[in-house]
Amino acid sequence: MLLEKTVLIATEKPFSEDARNAAVKAMEESGLKVRILEGYKSQQELLAAADGVHALIVRSDIIDQKVMDAFPNLELIVRAGAGWDNINHIYAEQKGIVVEPTPGQNSNAVAELAYEMMLMSIRPLNGKKGNELKGKRLGIHGFGNVGQIVARLGVAFGMDVRVYDRFLDERKAKEYGVTVVTSTEDLYKNSDIVSVHIPSNNETNKSISYELLKLMPANGILVNTARAEVINEEGLLKVLKERPQFKYATDIAPTAETKAVMEKEFKDRTIITPKKQGAETDEANYNAAVAAAHQCCDFLNNGIVLYAVNNPLPNGIRAYAVLAQALGRFNKVIGGAPGKIELTCHRDLAKYKEQIGQYVLKGLFEEDLGRELTPTSARESAKERGIEVIYRNPDPRVLHNLSLDITYFDQSGKPYEISGRVDNGELQITRIGEFKQIIPIRPLECVLTEYAEQAGMADRIGNVFTQGGYNKANGGFRQNNQRDKAMVFFQVEPVGTPVKEVKAVVQDILKLPGVLNSYYVNMK
Ligand code: NAD
Repeated sequence: MLLEKTVLIATEKPFSEDARNAAVKAMEESGLKVRILEGYKSQQELLAAADGVHALIVRSDIIDQKVMDAFPNLELIVRAGAGWDNINHIYAEQKGIVVEPTPGQNSNAVAELAYEMMLMSIRPLNGKKGNELKGKRLGIHGFGNVGQIVARLGVAFGMDVRVYDRFLDERKAKEYGVTVVTSTEDLYKNSDIVSVHIPSNNETNKSISYELLKLMPANGILVNTARAEVINEEGLLKVLKERPQFKYATDIAPTAETKAVMEKEFKDRTIITPKKQGAETDEANYNAAVAAAHQCCDFLNNGIVLYAVNNPLPNGIRAYAVLAQALGRFNKVIGGAPGKIELTCHRDLAKYKEQIGQYVLKGLFEEDLGRELTPTSARESAKERGIEVIYRNPDPRVLHNLSLDITYFDQSGKPYEISGRVDNGELQITRIGEFKQIIPIRPLECVLTEYAEQAGMADRIGNVFTQGGYNKANGGFRQNNQRDKAMVFFQVEPVGTPVKEVKAVVQDILKLPGVLNSYYVNMK
């Protein structure tokens, strides 16, 4: 008999009773067991409910590393809602846990709120004469789930609707009969009202600037039900100041300073909802709960992943993702920024080559960008930089263990090889450039040094670490095939307070006669 799978609905702020009951019914009818933890007061209560849970349905509950570590059987986390910032999806990925939101379920609620705000702006209920939406030019910035509904409703109001989306769904634009524009400048210049529906990310944050807003007519209306971060608030305040008829309505409160200025100087021309309420309808709540339940059924009963925001690998393969990331990191330090990458995944790893490739890219870019990347966003970063990833087929005549071979080509096309494997649970580099060197990947600072082969050199390099105040936890050296060069690596840890940083020790090593190159890789 198949093991019965259990879903825990864990909601600090409960679903409505109707929504919860419908979700439970859908899951029980499909053979899942459901437990409920509603209105819990502390993380401790959540941790105590962990036993035997395969999937979690949550709302804005914080699901961090500690929570995931406490749920030994967890395979899936569904966030009933559009975003997933409350879930540490990167850690989930490392643990093999799929994270899914329920996109689109609250889109209608948000779209209707956008109209509520447009109507309140254009025709406030103040006993005075107002204006109509009919015939106005409506610009939709972001034609996704919400933007599409706003477009459909705009057409119904008799508005002249134009849309801008960086990744436009042309079929939908045609179906809705809206005008497509190809730049934000065109959109803002030719719209009386702009409704914002883009996500917040590095590219969009602060992108709605003074320059863009001043292209709008003097009596333009900007409606924001998306995210506060996408607005350049300084620019917006400047426009509100310069244009006495310009109006702004938002569901996401600006910073306290901006809010104070708006309330003091532009109260009659700005609307700020007291609390974000775009998704706050009974219907949206119900839809999200039921969608979350169906997503649990699809996943636990049939392995169907519909809306995953992360990309976990199965047990046993996951270590190769960590290895791939470490190889990416080493290569960035040694080979510099690549122009192209070729990757060979041997044996069963071939099935996961794209995912493993994304981890190589994560290792390559993360340090430079100074932030954690998801494997998917690492792939996007590679695309933006024009870095091509080629998956090579392994040579069938050569017997390989599960292992990875990567060739990086630098910007000038010069190749650099690096290989790795997992040996009895230990992640190892097995080749680095022309050296068949075995370097275990450990959470230590590591220095690799290439030198013109000569007796006693590895010891001389080792002494520099001792003088710098470091203990050599691990090390080894290897000659190349011609025996004219060698590479030594040391993984070090400080003895008490070190005399200097490891990076400074590397500078000392570079001064030794015969040293060709020395690289510092921080694996801590
Ligand atoms: P979505 O992902 O379905 O749509 C976003 C659209 O923006 C996509 O079509 C995408 O191609 C487009 N886009 C991305 N980057 C762009 C760029 N640089 N320029 C132009 N277009 C770009 O998301 P959605 O469900 O429609 O949500 C839209 C926004 O509303 C999001 O910011 C979301 O967080 C927010 N939201 C707010 C509430 C609320 O309570 N107010 C509720 C749900 C969603």
